[in-house]
Order: sequence, then structure tokens, then C-alpha cells
Amino acid sequence: MTSRVCGSYCRFCFRKRLFIKGSTEVSLGIKERVNYIRSHPEITNVLLSGGDPLILSTRKLIELVSALSEIEHLRFIRIGTKTPAFNPFRITDDPELERVVSILKKSGKGAYIVTQFNHPRELTDKAKEAVKKLLSWGAILLNQTPLLRGINDNPDTLRELFISLVEIGISPYYIFQNRPVLGNHHFSVPITEGIRIIREAKRGISGLAGRIIYIMSHTTGKIEIVGCDEKQIYLKYHRAANPENHYRILTVPRKDDALWFDDLV
Ligand code: SF4
Repeated sequence: MTSRVCGSYCRFCFRKRLFIKGSTEVSLGIKERVNYIRSHPEITNVLLSGGDPLILSTRKLIELVSALSEIEHLRFIRIGTKTPAFNPFRITDDPELERVVSILKKSGKGAYIVTQFNHPRELTDKAKEAVKKLLSWGAILLNQTPLLRGINDNPDTLRELFISLVEIGISPYYIFQNRPVLGNHHFSVPITEGIRIIREAKRGISGLAGRIIYIMSHTTGKIEIVGCDEKQIYLKYHRAANPENHYRILTVPRKDDALWFDDLV
């Protein structure tokens, strides 16, 4: 489920189109979305994303998770948010927000918060305080971050980020290859360089900090960038729009200027 607003306005964001007035990709009515999920028993989990769901009022969020928590076939709910990084006060200064997590917990559903910390410097004392609060409420925290030229395209920076996340109770989850959209090309790192950077970042750290998966969120599915050698790049579908590609391994000729899947195939 997608909210149409986001307070962060990251310059690399591949979802800017959603924030454009009149975008038809997101619908506003909570009721209609919940009814859709309720009438589709094959849906086992929901990702609240955006934009940023924590931009919604706490009253709206409680209304939303209360409705979702009553749907039996939903097993867990994920909330994707950059708020702990860019506005931790939203979490530390609103005790009512705890109800969002406790409602899900009481309903027996897993309550996952997927944060977006992209650099160790975003882990400010206030951000850490917000993370501590979320954990104390019983949420499970994972982090996903895009690989960004000039921001975190450096093994030492990423290593420090992964270790610092685990240190405060967040599991490093995905590192995304920058999805090319208008205006974000200068943030992209070539795939073979990304492989080298992430391999170096994982060197000498624990499995817990190093279990991050390097991934492309492509229209054909979620594609893991497994590695490369002198001649080939190795990819693996994690989830594919075409069921025949589910967990399929792909070997493609190495191209050192390739920034995206479409540049490889
Ligand atoms: S927080 Fe996410 S949705 Fe919001 S601007 Fe940043 S990348 Fe885009």
C-alpha cells in the first residue's frame, strides 16, 4: 500500500512520480484498500510504503493497522519508512505511535519496520533513540539502503553502516542498485564496481552484519546481483513476475559500464 506523500524528498528517489499532483498510481481511500486485501485471501502480508507511511497522522495509521490486524489471512505487516533517519522526533515525541505496533502484536501478526539509513552519519543520537523506542515497542527492524555514488559507494562507509546498524538492533537487509529514473543518473554505480565495493565492505565482518543482499528491484522481479568474474556477471531472481524465472540463475556477459539490468540483457 502506497502513501502519496513523503517528507524526505531524497534526490535519488525512484518514486518521485508518485508525489506529482494528479498521479493515479496511488489511491487515497484506506477503506477500499483494506477491502481489496480482505477479499484476496492469497495476500499473506502487506508492505506499507510510499512515500512514507509515518507522514500520515497517528490516528490514520492506527485506523489502518487496526483494520489490517483484523484480516486473518494476513500473517505480517511491514512498514517501510525513512522517518527514523530524517525526522526521529516523529517517533520519540509521540507516545501514541506505540499503539501502531502494539495493535499488530496483539493481533499475533509480525510487526516489521523497514528503515532506510544510507550512511553511518544518519545514525544520529536522536535516530538511535527513535530506533530504541521502536524496538522497545516490540517491532522487528530491518534496513535497506540504495548504493549511491558519492554517498556510500565506499567499502569502509558501508562496513561501518552495517556494523552500526547491527549494534543498535537493526538487521541489514537489502542494498539496492540505484533504479534509473529521470534526474538520478549521477547517483548510479556500475554493477561490477558495486560488486567489488560490497564484497570489500563484507570482508572481515560477522555474518550478522554482512548478510546484506545486493539487489535490483526490476519490473521483471527482484534480482540479486550475486557476483562476477573476468567474463561474466551472475544474477539470481528472488521473486519474478514470470513464475518460470522464480529463483532462476542468470549468467550474462560482463559489462563494466552497465548500471542496470536492461544494460546487461
Ligand atoms: S524516503 Fe523513500 S519514498 Fe521518500 S523520497 Fe526518500 S526514497 Fe523516496
